[in-house]
Amino acid sequence: MNVLVINCGSSSLKYQLIDSETEAVLAKGLCERIGLDGRLVYQKAGCDKEITEVAMPTHKQAIQLVLDALVNPATGAIASLAEVGAVGHRLVHGAEKFTSSALVTDEMLAVVEECNDLAPLHNPANLIGVNACKELMPNVPMVAVYDTAFHQTMPSKAYLYGIPYEYYEKYRVRRYGFHGTSHSFVSKETADFLGMDYNNSKIIVAHLGNGASISAVLNGKCVDTSMGLTPLEGLIMGTRSGDIDPSIIEYIAKKENLDIAGVMNVLNKKSGVLGLSGISSDFRDLEDGHFAGDAHCTEVLEIFSYRVAKYIGAYVAAMNGVDAISFTAGVGENGPIVREMVLKYLGYLGIELDEEANNKRGFNNVISTADSKVKVCVIPTNEELAIARETVAIVGK
Ligand code: AMP
Repeated sequence: MNVLVINCGSSSLKYQLIDSETEAVLAKGLCERIGLDGRLVYQKAGCDKEITEVAMPTHKQAIQLVLDALVNPATGAIASLAEVGAVGHRLVHGAEKFTSSALVTDEMLAVVEECNDLAPLHNPANLIGVNACKELMPNVPMVAVYDTAFHQTMPSKAYLYGIPYEYYEKYRVRRYGFHGTSHSFVSKETADFLGMDYNNSKIIVAHLGNGASISAVLNGKCVDTSMGLTPLEGLIMGTRSGDIDPSIIEYIAKKENLDIAGVMNVLNKKSGVLGLSGISSDFRDLEDGHFAGDAHCTEVLEIFSYRVAKYIGAYVAAMNGVDAISFTAGVGENGPIVREMVLKYLGYLGIELDEEANNKRGFNNVISTADSKVKVCVIPTNEELAIARETVAIVGK
């Protein structure tokens, strides 16, 4: 069966058409600047990217353009939409309502809307994509795959904050965690790759991209993760601060004459390695600076890596040990310097880095030496494939 995977944001939409039997990507691309001028990127497997500047005032029109491209007689990947067996949608926040992926129904969408307060930037945009697809493909089954679902197995000692309990009871303020599809995919892939029993394993996944989070996966179940009520908590990220003393919010608000929204904007968009470096949120720029001898770029990479290493230490404690640590996502997969900087703190675990292996990329790889007591891996994440697998698991082949 072919599964169309949709990841719909407020002004952009990524898509992949995946043959679930072979797991091959038949076509992929994105719509950008929806509601503005509009740009469609389409790439059929084995062909060059096609980029078309085309008006797409609404998400429905953007999805219609994607469907038209998929069945285009000259360059389409399929002959007709009858060849799309199901659609898998990425939804960011399922709160405590969804502990696993679910078939899209009207009742289910009403429940997702109740979660919108918790992810005002993401969930409404995700839902627009679901509704647009429902209108354009009314008879195709659709599945919602939540970023939060994999983390719902965390115990209360990991998800409750040290604030009045009534805020949890009244408003469900707690740790939810994000990137769940990636943490689930990469932890399972790590166990398979290393020939370990997933149900009897201690794995730490460091998803280090523009957004970054880390999780402790014990016997195939998440027991802790670094993002919280929102994706702002935890590691230092491209533009997000990660953990800070909450009092900084009031202090900066007074000093800079900002309201709460203004400070939150700084913490979400102007902080992280961008704010620290004053140069860029992109780790490639910081690496370039590091190699050119810019000591401040080196310092920023160290600050980022030190936080990752501290979280790994915490999660080793949470699981009373660790069998494998996997790096994934843009920086985790492509940044040997950050991996090296993180691992140099972990000698106490008996970890030894294989420097030659650490300089390779693009495939599942062990980057620790044969003698290392804990296996360290680079495992490329594939959230679209994970969504396609979840979709097939729910709608059947
Ligand atoms: P993601 O959010 O997973 O797509 O990751 C995006 C980030 O990965 C970019 O902002 C870069 O900072 C980082 N990245 C991509 N390629 C490289 C590379 N070759 N070396 C270091 N960082 C990279």
